[in-house]
Amino acid sequence: MKIVDALLNTNTFSPSELATRYRADFPILDICVNDKSLVYLDNAASSQMPQQVIDRLVRYQTAQHANIHRAVHYLSEVATHEYETARRSLQHFINAREDREIIFTSGTTESINLVMHGYGRKFIQQDDEIILTNLEHHSNIVPWQMLAEEKGARIRVVPINDAGELLIDEYEKLFNSRTRFVAITHVSNALGTINPIKNMIAFAHMKGVPVLVDGAQAAAHIKIDVQDLDCDFYAFSAHKMCGPTGVGILYGKAHLLESMQPFKGGGDMIASVTFEKTTYNTIPYKFEAGTPPIAAAIGFGSAIEYLSKIGMDTIAAYEHELLSYATEQLEAMPGVRIIGNTRTKVAVISFTIEGVHPHDVGTLLNQEGIAVRTGHHCAQPIMQRYNIPATSRASFAFYNTKAEVDALVAGIQSVQKVFS
Ligand code: PLP
Repeated sequence: MKIVDALLNTNTFSPSELATRYRADFPILDICVNDKSLVYLDNAASSQMPQQVIDRLVRYQTAQHANIHRAVHYLSEVATHEYETARRSLQHFINAREDREIIFTSGTTESINLVMHGYGRKFIQQDDEIILTNLEHHSNIVPWQMLAEEKGARIRVVPINDAGELLIDEYEKLFNSRTRFVAITHVSNALGTINPIKNMIAFAHMKGVPVLVDGAQAAAHIKIDVQDLDCDFYAFSAHKMCGPTGVGILYGKAHLLESMQPFKGGGDMIASVTFEKTTYNTIPYKFEAGTPPIAAAIGFGSAIEYLSKIGMDTIAAYEHELLSYATEQLEAMPGVRIIGNTRTKVAVISFTIEGVHPHDVGTLLNQEGIAVRTGHHCAQPIMQRYNIPATSRASFAFYNTKAEVDALVAGIQSVQKVFS
């Protein structure tokens, strides 16, 4: 057994040891940007793909590519088998009861829109209320606003404290006889806050209200067990968890998915079609109209296998250690303010630097080869809450190192020098 494996098995690893073990799988991390080694700290936007997933995509494209479900020829059968295997990998990854509860979509955004159209348009009516939180990404705000506008329903919002944590007392007070739906993010993309969703779901269920969880920022960092959470819907995207763009999933409890109306009409989602009447396919196919993202879904399955091999608990423990190290460094820097400094968070640090616009921070860090995201992070209500236009956000993955945190700190110091 290698020393690193032994360390992992005893859970006494240090960040650099874990990153050393897996970093080599990511060819893109070896590139230089502006003649500096790339320091990739924009994982909350999109993480990178390991060689194993890239190879899987190449194998599909070179030896397995065909359309699925519609032919008896060899390649179609292989592609169908691989696509459905990926669905089962996703099922096991989040501990869903059945594989038909996993719907492939183009990503979190489409998954949420699917629920808005399929569930919301059917079951939410005038004067009904939908509960969101102040921590939502626009993807989990705008679809519900569109629905509210169409139906004459109302949006209610759970506020946060200065640390970026939801005020749970306020959440509970928002429920009334008109509450019909709750849509909450598991983890805030802008601040990293991990919300107490299990308790929030239990409370909503006590009131007879179903809950959708936006898991886009959680699934790559925290072990997800949808049966334990008892959520009604859970959505996430492959590109934030070492997979390709263009694919994600919606998990939904089977009885709810069955009760919903289709989102898109077309091939594969039907049982029979005449000009007089169409009957729909069973789930999950009822929600997978047209040719799905076959290659991307197979790549997603491969990414899930990759993450599962490392172990989500190992990833979470390692990233937490990296976050603590980074937080300590940034908190000690004069002029640097961490926005949303809760301790219950994933490895995301949103910060501002006194006297420097975040856009300039991002531009100057890029000159040092450091990739961070700057802006409102598609979460404008969070920026409004803190009365700031934007932040710089460093978001870490298990392949990031302490040395990269040090590079970020040095980069921030040189930004401060330029503006001093
Ligand atoms: N929800 C959250 C919390 C996110 O962070 C994101 C993307 O950043 C999304 C939803 C949308 O994901 P996608 O663009 O993959 O649909």
